[in-house]
Amino acid sequence: MSAPTRASTLFDEHGAPVAPSRLGKDGRLRLLTGLRPTGRLHLGNYVGTLEKDVQLQDDPRYECFFLVADFHALTTGFERSREVESNIRETLLDFLAVGIDPERSTIYLQSLVPEVAELFLLFSMLVSVSRAQRIPTLKEQVRDLRLESASLGLLNYPVLQAADILMVRGEVVPVGEDQLSHIELTREIARRFNGLYGAVFPESQGHVGRVATLPGLDGKPKMSKSIGNTVELADDAETVQKKIKRMFVGEAYARQSPTKQGILEGNPLFIYHELFNDDAAQVDDLKARYTAGQVGDGEIKSALAAALNRFLDPIRQRRAHFASRPGYLDEVVAEGTSRARREARDTLEMARDAMGMGYFGDARRRVELAVQGGRA
Ligand code: ATP
Ligand code: MG
Repeated sequence: MSAPTRASTLFDEHGAPVAPSRLGKDGRLRLLTGLRPTGRLHLGNYVGTLEKDVQLQDDPRYECFFLVADFHALTTGFERSREVESNIRETLLDFLAVGIDPERSTIYLQSLVPEVAELFLLFSMLVSVSRAQRIPTLKEQVRDLRLESASLGLLNYPVLQAADILMVRGEVVPVGEDQLSHIELTREIARRFNGLYGAVFPESQGHVGRVATLPGLDGKPKMSKSIGNTVELADDAETVQKKIKRMFVGEAYARQSPTKQGILEGNPLFIYHELFNDDAAQVDDLKARYTAGQVGDGEIKSALAAALNRFLDPIRQRRAHFASRPGYLDEVVAEGTSRARREARDTLEMARDAMGMGYFGDARRRVELAVQGGRA
């Protein structure tokens, strides 16, 4: 366990708390990205977070953690708990397919780190019910998923997320815009905890990717797994073509005929083209003809489907490669989670010590040994 991250090193020689930063190995910044295994990942997840993740994984200033947040999947789908396992596998394959590398980054599974549940419990004392109710994603989820009302689990979603982020003392969190309010709550929790008990946690920063929110295929402002308005990273070429052909751009952009002048600003078709079409000359040409009323949506869509397929091809190939290796995902999870769990134990110990709850250390160790011994 890395000595520089222990609680005692977070105070200067006068006993004043030192704001923790650059907590990663060799002074690197810690990055955490978490995704819910609620389905296969999509283009929105890619531009919202994965693209930045892969870029920062290559940057020697960052130490990266990638979390599959299976407890979070239950917050909106506890009746479908039996689907979580296959969704975890799909999410892991998607991570690997976009280029997240278990040799350089830590890929881990939330429910195999029980310390996170304990930290979550401690944090839940620091957040008022009315504060949790003010998080905008809560109302959106209740509306989009047509829930009768939010469960306590859903209300606690961002508090659990704060535990994920602060468990590894994550400083940089690449996210879609929808998640910024959660990062703000994470910062509040860190400040509250540090103020009450001493400096243990960093104030994490959210980083929004190239686009704040990628719209869905149905005219809704956000592409979401749970709404099912997505192009999945794993979709085959034919599926992409069909989905794009049926794509609905929303009332504001619908045109009766190709001779009608189109609006570019905020148009999902062109948002997709800008982000994923590597043929810039083609995009410029389509834009010019669209605004002049000289091109049909059919042509724009077929060019888009072709561009998306060029973009997705290497991702699909890497996915197929990893999917064909039996036992590999278990290996990745076992390896990464062991590493993450060591971090989690360190953090929890620091938090407990800061709170004056490091008591019964000897008994704690004996209980752990006795329980492990009983199982062996
Ligand atoms: P769910 O509908 O189950 O909540 P999701 O599609 O919103 O799924 P998450 O796993 O909740 O995906 O989000 C993972 C990350 O991807 C988060 O950082 C989130 O902000 C980002 N993200 C999700 N959808 C989009 C989108 N349409 N545009 C940009 N970023 C997105
Ligand atoms: Mg989401």
